Amino acid sequence: MVRKDVKVKEVKAKSVLTKSRLAGSDYVINPYSGCAFGCSYCYADFIRRFTGHTSDEWGSYVDVKINAAEILEKELKRLAMKVQGQSLEPTVLIGSVTDPYQGIEAKYQITKKCLEVLSRSNCLASFSILTKSHLVARDINVVKKIRNISVGFTITTTDDEVSRLLEGNSPPVSLRLKALDQLNQEGVSTYVCVNPLLPHFVDNERRLRELFSAIRQSGNREIWLEHINLGGNKLRRIKAVLKKETPKVIKYFEVAKSEKYKADLNRLLFRILRDYDFEIGGGGIIDHKRRVIITNKANSYKKVKSGWRVEVIM
Ligand code: SF4
Repeated sequence: MVRKDVKVKEVKAKSVLTKSRLAGSDYVINPYSGCAFGCSYCYADFIRRFTGHTSDEWGSYVDVKINAAEILEKELKRLAMKVQGQSLEPTVLIGSVTDPYQGIEAKYQITKKCLEVLSRSNCLASFSILTKSHLVARDINVVKKIRNISVGFTITTTDDEVSRLLEGNSPPVSLRLKALDQLNQEGVSTYVCVNPLLPHFVDNERRLRELFSAIRQSGNREIWLEHINLGGNKLRRIKAVLKKETPKVIKYFEVAKSEKYKADLNRLLFRILRDYDFEIGGGGIIDHKRRVIITNKANSYKKVKSGWRVEVIM
């Protein structure tokens, strides 16, 4: 379901497989432009400037790339030739600046068509989907046909009220946890992105343990952790949401901009994580704003993506 006030436009994309500057991905595929989930903390709203939506509120529009699968097929052939013989498979993320399973996907099935292209491709790449929607479970059968793919859910809390407050029109987190459990039971490789680590709501030991336990109980092993990015207009957008419902919380988000807050949280996380046997995606806690990966293991990195640094805390 898509809200009636969301502007939906069909567009023809020139390209859908693009190079990425994200820490864990070499390429990204975005079947839509814009995202009707409209999370308050979303970092992807910068994309409005490049897609003719400067004056639209983030979350109020979706452009549907109706030819995405057709273009992807050609681009994947080129990528397959380029990476032939390489020892390391490139990583391709589906859904970096949009949610590939937002409501409109139920009707247009653009993401599903892109997955069908991947299932027929001989491109030696490692694919991952990232979503906040249980709709991805609809496509389990196609996912299973893809040689190397994992399905990731963004799960930042176990509390549906918190996700309703901060994650706009995304499905409740309880539905995501159920879908994660289902995918794990079906033998699909999964991961969870705790992105962002939510100030105040999930930054103390009790809440973090609740979150990690719920993720672990779903059968998931790989977890990505990322500090909240409050640069640009993001703090202003979050404040606007909090002001209406819980203004006292605003000060905790302001504090979360400081390096001291992040350093204290890093230490707490590394202490708690010892009890959960997670595999930490990206090799450490990601601070996207400073383009830094924080690890507590010396020499854990052989090579870091260009433009990124590693900080070791013991
Ligand atoms: S689901 Fe992802 S892309 Fe969509 S608004 Fe939320 S954070 Fe942004």
